[in-house]
Amino acid sequence: MRLHFFPPDLFEADREHLVRLVHEIGTSCPEGASQRFILGEHTARFEEALREQLGAADVVACGSGTSALTLVLAAMEIGPGDEVVVPALGCAPLASSVVALGAVPVFADVDPWTMVVDPEVMERRITPRTKALMPAHMFSVMADMPRFTALAEAYGLRLVEDSAVAQGGVRRGVPAGLAGEAGVYSFVQVKTFGTAGEGGAVVTRDAELGRTVRMLRNHGQDGRTRFLHHRIGWNSRFDEIQAAFLLHRLPGFPARLERRARIAEHYTERFADLADHGVLAPPPGRDGRCYYVYTVQAERRDALAAHLADRGIDSHVYYPRTLPRQPAFARYAGVGVDPAAEWPAAERAGDRMLSLPVHPQLSDAEVEYLADAVREFALTS
Ligand SMILES: *Cc1c(COP(=O)(O)O)cnc(C)c1O
Repeated sequence: MRLHFFPPDLFEADREHLVRLVHEIGTSCPEGASQRFILGEHTARFEEALREQLGAADVVACGSGTSALTLVLAAMEIGPGDEVVVPALGCAPLASSVVALGAVPVFADVDPWTMVVDPEVMERRITPRTKALMPAHMFSVMADMPRFTALAEAYGLRLVEDSAVAQGGVRRGVPAGLAGEAGVYSFVQVKTFGTAGEGGAVVTRDAELGRTVRMLRNHGQDGRTRFLHHRIGWNSRFDEIQAAFLLHRLPGFPARLERRARIAEHYTERFADLADHGVLAPPPGRDGRCYYVYTVQAERRDALAAHLADRGIDSHVYYPRTLPRQPAFARYAGVGVDPAAEWPAAERAGDRMLSLPVHPQLSDAEVEYLADAVREFALTS
């Protein structure tokens, strides 16, 4: 057996369709209209399809999930002198999007089991300079958005939800992306609603914020008057071929998510008795879960990874280093601060976490093979 972390045949079933779209969009020129490769009718239809599905006020497709974070923070006028509280454990854009605007990322520790940023710790990181909170959904578990919403209200702060890995997830009836003022999605190949390339979106309940993001993604223009720049923006426009391809993939998305959830549920059941043997599964349940990757914590993590590799099973460490420990962000961690003392749960998670394949193309036999391999490691080695 050979279990890839991400399926090597990701778009096999849609290959013919993709080729047709490239041909159509690449060669068509509707009567009286100009040919459009970006921000055309397909992008508009894709945005509308997502907006309607979510019940959002606006969905703005843009260049990437990273750029979606930057656009939201910029629309909220976050800049020099401002602090944004972000998780200490997570991907680089959580900190770099803040730094790119001249603001300061302040790192908050995570929950030791879920590895998602802890609302109580985030509250302790709030200072008079704090302008926004930016929790992120991670691995298999969504952040506790009801508590972050209450925190933002109590302190009068902006709330950005990094829902890049949680599209399709729901917590207490609220879809990922819509709990805060604005959320983001990423359509990069490997994400649960990935495309054959790059892309992202801002989703929001606030129509005015949506309008501002729309302007900022295309150099501050309002979409009516060309070369009139209301604000300094970026080029974060959306590709028509990707929009058409994602529209085609949208109806199949719930079934693919359901397959991920079933696989994850099965792992969690099979790993339930391994906690005393050094392998801790994420919390069970369906509410507030998102299975972009399935992440366990293992006392002998590297030995487990090697055991799996010997059996042809890929695994990945997301993320081996906390954000304050990254050379790029160390200066925001504070002078003389000891990361192990300041962010103990994030540090410990970084040493123990291992992500396992959970993509929908896995067969039942492959899922069982992986679960057996993890059990064998925990119970006999
Ligand atoms: C992937 C990811 C991003 C960035 O999305 P890109 O489309 O890769 O730029 C941001 N935040 C989180 C939590 C992510 O996992």
